[in-house]
Amino acid sequence: MINNTMERNDTDLIERIAQEHGLSTASAKAVVDDVQSDADVALVCSECGDTEDDGARVVSAFTDPRDGEKRALCDSCFAGLLESRTMLSPQQARILPLMLAGWGPTEIADALGIDRPNVSVQQSKIRGRVDEAFEQLEEARSTLAVLEDLTNVETNQ
Ligand SMILES: [Zn+2]
Repeated sequence: MINNTMERNDTDLIERIAQEHGLSTASAKAVVDDVQSDADVALVCSECGDTEDDGARVVSAFTDPRDGEKRALCDSCFAGLLESRTMLSPQQARILPLMLAGWGPTEIADALGIDRPNVSVQQSKIRGRVDEAFEQLEEARSTLAVLEDLTNVETNQ
């Protein structure tokens, strides 16, 4: 009974949004789905299909490092992406998804089986990585600028 009522309300809402904004029902539904995925309701990991009910610690709308798009990912899949795409250590990659999901250091320490003080140390190292990345980017840019000129000189001779 409760489910039926909820579904009907959802359908009514979609119809109303479609009419008010001159959208097709399908586009209106896509908008509603999008809003709901941001609202953290029963998300399914887009990589492994896990939900918080069947094993994942957290499934949240994380920014996918492969394309910068927001999508539902469980903390394990997101940690895997972070580990392969960033300068974060494996442990930092496991901590960051939980930090972003609003977990406190004590909860993170319990969930990952690491010491509470170590979690705090890793959290500040994660923040430090951003500054480090900017520094390395600057260095890489100036290296590229210099070496590009060098290459031009060599090919001109
Ligand atoms: Zn997953």
